Amino acid sequence: MPYVASSKRYNEMEYRLCGRSGLRLPLISLGLWHNFGNNKPVDNCQAMLRHAFDLGITHFDLANNYGPPPGSAESTFGQIMQQDFLPYRDEMIISSKAGFTMWDGPYGDWGSKKYLVASLNQSLKRMGLDYVDIFYHHRPDPNTPLEETMGALDLIVRQGKALYVGISNYPTNLAKEAIGILNELGTPCLIHQPKYSMLERTPEEDLLDLLEEEGVGSIAYSPLAGGILTDRYLNGIPADSRAAGNPSLPPERLTSTILSKVKQLNELAVKRGQKLNQMALAWLLRHDRITSVLIGASRISQIDDAMGILKNRNFTQEELKAIELIFES
Ligand code: NDP
Repeated sequence: MPYVASSKRYNEMEYRLCGRSGLRLPLISLGLWHNFGNNKPVDNCQAMLRHAFDLGITHFDLANNYGPPPGSAESTFGQIMQQDFLPYRDEMIISSKAGFTMWDGPYGDWGSKKYLVASLNQSLKRMGLDYVDIFYHHRPDPNTPLEETMGALDLIVRQGKALYVGISNYPTNLAKEAIGILNELGTPCLIHQPKYSMLERTPEEDLLDLLEEEGVGSIAYSPLAGGILTDRYLNGIPADSRAAGNPSLPPERLTSTILSKVKQLNELAVKRGQKLNQMALAWLLRHDRITSVLIGASRISQIDDAMGILKNRNFTQEELKAIELIFES
């Protein structure tokens, strides 16, 4: 059956301006790091993308290396894009990145102009797109001058291959420098993509202040800590979960200390009338400094769960204190 997007797709979702730009992102964005590679049934990928778009999730985040194997998430996305989403391309914000190992030899990794330009060309081919909306440098490169990497992002925009650019995993000092260089080049940095969740607080030290001052948006990746901040692991490790079979979430990370905190957080969420994943996402979005949360999902019901935050994103001072106490204890 050809896909026709729901006529109600913009009824529920809210959109936030991304920094000092004119681009609005949905509060919830969908990432394709896991669950869209060649090792996953394409039917489920298609169902999740359709469902997300029907709920007003307009932003889909990819990278050259998402899979496995690397590149296959973009190929799967490209296939579904051609089948379902071409009529909706102008309603979508599609991002990709380069910065981690992608191909053999000295030009398939890190941050040279050679790598970034070639990688984006490959990504566009895999996805069957003329341009991406956002192109990121995926991680800082200690051996390439920042001027070259940022110059490559500027070039890519001038070539019309990306509309906006961003950085990911950049610590505050390098982010500041990168933002400055991009400003000078006339291609402002739209967005930073840091790892941020109740369990990963580094951005709170000074990164979020910098981004606010500079008018750069921020999209929090792994906002559920890969699934730890959900009810998934409260009673053991389910066979179909990330911790059961993916090196990105080794079961050793589910220590008794973490699980005890997760249980306490879960009780707090239940008192708020929410599921834990909803409380964890709402907590990130409680102030405007976070433009969007970039979730992963292995099934449609997890996307529906995330949508629950639209009903309750307010926290009392007591609730915020109670959350901090759980982490201090
Ligand atoms: P999350 O922290 O949102 O974890 C997603 C996982 O949590 C799901 O795959 C699922 O695990 C579990 N989950 C989600 N919802 C529920 C629910 N309602 N109930 C129970 N379990 C749930 O994000 P990811 O770590 O997947 O990262 C999200 C995106 O961020 C990526 O796809 C990518 O786009 C981006 N990212 C960027 C990085 C960068 O360096 N810039 C690095 C990492 C991610 P299960 O599979 O067990 O069902």
